[in-house]
Amino acid sequence: MSFKNLQLIEPVLKALAHEGYTEPTPIQQDAIPVVLQKRDLLGCAQTGTGKTAAFAIPVLQLMQQDRLQHPTDRMQPRKIQTLVLTPTRELAIQIEESFKAYGRYLPLQRLVVFGGVSQYHQVAALRRGVDILVATPGRLLDLVNQRHIALQHIKYFVLDEADRMLDMGFVDDVKKIISKLPAKKQSLFFSATMPTEIKQLANMLLVDPVKVEVTPPASVVDIIQQSLYYVEKQNKSALLTHLLNDAAVKTALVFTKTKHGADRLAKQLSRAGIRADSIHGNKSQNERQRSLFNFKNSRTRVLVATDIAARGIDIDELGHVFIHDLPESPETYVHRIGRTGRAGASGIAISFCDYAEKVYLAEIQKLIKRKIAVVKDHPYDVALMHPQEYKPAQNNVSFNRRKSGGGGRKYGRPFRQRA
Ligand code: AMP
Repeated sequence: MSFKNLQLIEPVLKALAHEGYTEPTPIQQDAIPVVLQKRDLLGCAQTGTGKTAAFAIPVLQLMQQDRLQHPTDRMQPRKIQTLVLTPTRELAIQIEESFKAYGRYLPLQRLVVFGGVSQYHQVAALRRGVDILVATPGRLLDLVNQRHIALQHIKYFVLDEADRMLDMGFVDDVKKIISKLPAKKQSLFFSATMPTEIKQLANMLLVDPVKVEVTPPASVVDIIQQSLYYVEKQNKSALLTHLLNDAAVKTALVFTKTKHGADRLAKQLSRAGIRADSIHGNKSQNERQRSLFNFKNSRTRVLVATDIAARGIDIDELGHVFIHDLPESPETYVHRIGRTGRAGASGIAISFCDYAEKVYLAEIQKLIKRKIAVVKDHPYDVALMHPQEYKPAQNNVSFNRRKSGGGGRKYGRPFRQRA
């Protein structure tokens, strides 16, 4: 498919040709027509899928069409009609640059505002007039409260990386901003993952949205060697330590469900003599960059991360991914394993599954259309496939105790081999 099939106007097509884009990415193919039909959009996609262009291109086109339909508006001072809210300064800058690139042949003014710098130049630019504003939540609210920014003319609202907003503690600010927007507007909502709070936020904002979802190509699933360990929750870190004792694991990225869990696990691994660090949204930008630097330079062997913090991690030679906690969303599993096996290299993804996570496993296997190979030969295996025989253990059971326990008895009944 080419961009021409998406009914884009000439100045936009010309700008895309200038960028060297030949065909739309999957998220662009799906999202652009929906936005051009003036529908609200719920987009599940990560950075790297082309999602910025997926909203910037059609919004620019709609704005240009509005201009042509209302030529007298051009006599008026510019009003902010498009607001893009994004969690970090880096993303804000990138998004503004994308609007600049795709709108290079359109007469629309853009501005990016974020905190941590003087507001002087931002205010001066606002006074000169802006059509498209890209902002981080804190600075936007500051400028709104000082009446440098009026939001009542917003027609197009993009909420980018909503889950990261949550992770960084910006959700209340985002809600405040939404409450200041006009009721009648078109909203585009992007999030890589959909935890409950994010679903609620989407429901609050969107009217009859069209959902568009992209996952990394299936080839990711084909290249990566995936395996699964059934293990009780309380034995997961011991199993991880056991597997990390294998020198063949040079570097490993470990995914946990929570920030707290990431910290705790990194400490446990460090205590076991494994050079480990954690990275998540509660850490400052500097701390995260330091952790990443150390990991990329092999000073740290294991990096424990939450999904959102791991998004920027792009390491070509990452050999192993461990999924300590299976994710609720099967797409997240595919994103996680896709951190290894980059650039066509083969990678290894090892997942742990406790009893409560079996429902997530079923969803994952449905999505990837295969059963993940189960490794039974490990010291912490548990007969999870037979829940009627499963009783939570009182204590952690070490390899040696199990072995000497006689006949593989752990819960008073013999362990059965799974089929
Ligand atoms: P994003 O997911 O928005 O961060 O985009 C990831 C990268 O893909 C950016 O560097 C874009 O410039 C690039 N990109 C987006 N759309 C296309 C396309 N259709 N063809 C080629 N590159 C693209």
